[in-house]
Amino acid sequence: KAATSAAAAPGQESTLGMTATKDGNYPEWFQQVCRGAELIEYTDVSGCYVIRARATYVWKRVQRFFTDLIEEKGVVEELYPMFVSSAALHKEAHHLEGFAPEVAWLGSTGPEPFDPEKPDGKGKPLKECIALRPTSETIMYPQWAKWVRSHRDLPIKINQWCNVVRWEFKQPTPFIRTREFYWQEGHTAHATDKEAEDWMWMILDFYRRVYEELLAVPVVPGVKSEGEKFPGGKITSTVEAYMPNGRAVQAATSHHLGDNFSKIYEIVFDAADGVTRSFVHQTSWGLTTRSVGVAVMVHSDDKGLVLPPKVAMGQVVLIPIPYQSKSGENPAEAAKRNEEIRDKCERLAAELKRADYFEGDSNKYWKIRAYADTRQDKTPGWKYNEWELKGVPVRIELGPKDYDKQEVVLVRRDTGEKIKGVKWTDLTARVPALLREIQDNLFVQAKKKLDDAIVKVTKWEEVTPALNQRKIVLAPWCQEEETEDEIKKRTTEEAAQTLANEQATQPAAAAAAAAGEGEEEYAAPALTGAAKPLCILTDDDPRRPPLTEDTKCFLTGKAARCWALFGRSY
Ligand code: AMP
Repeated sequence: KAATSAAAAPGQESTLGMTATKDGNYPEWFQQVCRGAELIEYTDVSGCYVIRARATYVWKRVQRFFTDLIEEKGVVEELYPMFVSSAALHKEAHHLEGFAPEVAWLGSTGPEPFDPEKPDGKGKPLKECIALRPTSETIMYPQWAKWVRSHRDLPIKINQWCNVVRWEFKQPTPFIRTREFYWQEGHTAHATDKEAEDWMWMILDFYRRVYEELLAVPVVPGVKSEGEKFPGGKITSTVEAYMPNGRAVQAATSHHLGDNFSKIYEIVFDAADGVTRSFVHQTSWGLTTRSVGVAVMVHSDDKGLVLPPKVAMGQVVLIPIPYQSKSGENPAEAAKRNEEIRDKCERLAAELKRADYFEGDSNKYWKIRAYADTRQDKTPGWKYNEWELKGVPVRIELGPKDYDKQEVVLVRRDTGEKIKGVKWTDLTARVPALLREIQDNLFVQAKKKLDDAIVKVTKWEEVTPALNQRKIVLAPWCQEEETEDEIKKRTTEEAAQTLANEQATQPAAAAAAAAGEGEEEYAAPALTGAAKPLCILTDDDPRRPPLTEDTKCFLTGKAARCWALFGRSY
């Protein structure tokens, strides 16, 4: 019986697994990871997905990590309605202009959509149009105007975890660009501009920590250019991440709103002198389920999902390897041995689950999330594939020989390395250490890729060749707003030229590109589309080269005012 259950059923191995590769067809690879690891399920509304348990687990961890950080700073949680009146949304013109194309409006109420062509059509038009929140400034701030009277009411520090809707017209990508997404949006009001700006930077550093310490994804903190900043804001700070296909992604943003919104929504306070009345200075800041997608994209490989242990729903899976009975042996003996092996796997899993484990940075003890996969209708090989696809960081194999020696074999998901001869009695010490090692290694690997991807350029001619190598460029910039469109225009044109050259030299690959949605459908080196400013490096960034009077803008040749990163972005 043991021997038959160990043999793979025909076709069984091929039902799991991946066909696309990360270096080949990247978008297809990402979809296969998301579906194979059961992170998402597609629905019949484009850009809207079911976020399944393994991915929701990651999001829950992000929530806990970030909540701990902001609670300590006195932030409280509130919940606001998801609807915003047309009047409130229209109050802040810049803000509305920025979001207008993506706002989803509720056209009617009732059992059927309202049809203006048929006066007797079912459904009732809303008296006044109502929108689904793309973000909640316009919902929260009219309320805050009622609550703030004096300097004693400040600061206000409120966060909400919720979902928002932005009817994106760009190609949707699971987690990364979705039409409904989950996020936290934090909002504060302060007595001084300085206090608000300091708060913005503090939150940005919390976002950096979520990415680096929890998700093992290195990010570059910086400031958005005028053209890229939050509609209606004063300063937008950002953390940018680098994806393995050469695109950057805005990983989270923290905005200093100045008094732009408070002037419109009339959030005014009496100063301590009892005479002066001032507008409050505000911040808003958001981190979304995009973070889950960023971690998945950065770490996963051609076998499927790779997740940092801190956010993996299952951290350790124990797999029994059945004893193969030899001819002439008593089958009952073999069955008994196999039962012992399975039973030992269950016991070791239970022991691991009870063990306390210190994660390091988060300063907390956790329990190891271990599980024994003792299914008898699946072969060990089938299970290895399945748990690799689903991104379990550590596999523990227990075969008959190991059993006799009271040992197991540990296998790392990140490197594939096998660690043989680990004593049962050492497991509760070895496994936590290994989980920490994997977490650290994933960060180190990703950091190396980010560092390699940043190429310093000083002249325009160097930009497209670097972008064609799937890099992002670091360049001295005059920061004039008109140059932002010029950069987009030139990089688009030069990319079209690259594609034309590729068509001439490698017609088969280029034809595949043309047949698909565009640039990423094949393994050719170039991405197409516009590059844009990603972020302006802060003065204290070690990556930032010196800025002197002689430093010239890479585009205009005028005096440079900053060093900024440019690249193609999600
Ligand atoms: P914002 O309120 O525009 O600053 O957005 C906050 C953060 O949301 C951005 O920094 C992005 O990381 C993320 N984000 C923006 N659009 C989407 C989207 N369509 N899907 C998922 N995340 C998004």
